Amino acid sequence: MNSLGLPSLDCHAHISPDVTRPQLDTIGHAHVFAVTRSLSEAEKVAARLDHRLTWGIGVHPGVATARASYDPDTFRQLLPRFALVGEVGLDRRGGRGEQEQILSDVLAACADRPVFISIHSTGRTGEVIDLVKRRPHPGVILHWFLGTPDELVQAIAAGMYFSVNNAMSEERLQALPRDRVLTETDFPARQVRARAPGETQPIESRLARVWRMPEELVRYQLWTNLKRLALASGAIDALSDSVADTLLAI
Ligand SMILES: [Zn+2]
Repeated sequence: MNSLGLPSLDCHAHISPDVTRPQLDTIGHAHVFAVTRSLSEAEKVAARLDHRLTWGIGVHPGVATARASYDPDTFRQLLPRFALVGEVGLDRRGGRGEQEQILSDVLAACADRPVFISIHSTGRTGEVIDLVKRRPHPGVILHWFLGTPDELVQAIAAGMYFSVNNAMSEERLQALPRDRVLTETDFPARQVRARAPGETQPIESRLARVWRMPEELVRYQLWTNLKRLALASGAIDALSDSVADTLLAI
């Protein structure tokens, strides 16, 4: 299988809801999961059709205003317009009770919905895994996972995937099963140093070394992983035709 034609895959990046077409043209040959931080941002992007992007509906756990303005009914009304839920999760900043309530509600609303869910877990990884285990979903992607070896074992057993970036250590990358790995930039996160969303080549090169695999096969592996997750979660039916066609062609 020749995978050279596949776009790079960025499963977690932050792009302004007001981004213009000319700005998006600079992204190049990539597909980007563009997460939002609040329901008001999600509302702005709900009607956008950008062929390089899959927009997400999110409530960033570390953003107090996003938490304060979260509304379960608005989330449920908007959800059918999205193939991706993100960024949601728990964060060490902010009250744990409020964050857990929102994440539980989001997971409850996502039950049986054909979506990917990009989950943030910095500082509260064990709590995230517990919540997801209570409300399992077949489309969960843990973004920038920094949990303990024991938490990793639990996340793998619960069927979760992992989007990894170039700020993560070799040891972390090594510990993840290769059929559960996706790539991300978390653009504009400074530690990752991606100059644009979709710039996943540096992490692909590292995965090639870790996996002892030619670089061109790494991208194929990533898309194969996404395809498996898209089929398991049903998100394949909610994705735009261009991504769904790419997935079905591999
Ligand atoms: Zn993020």
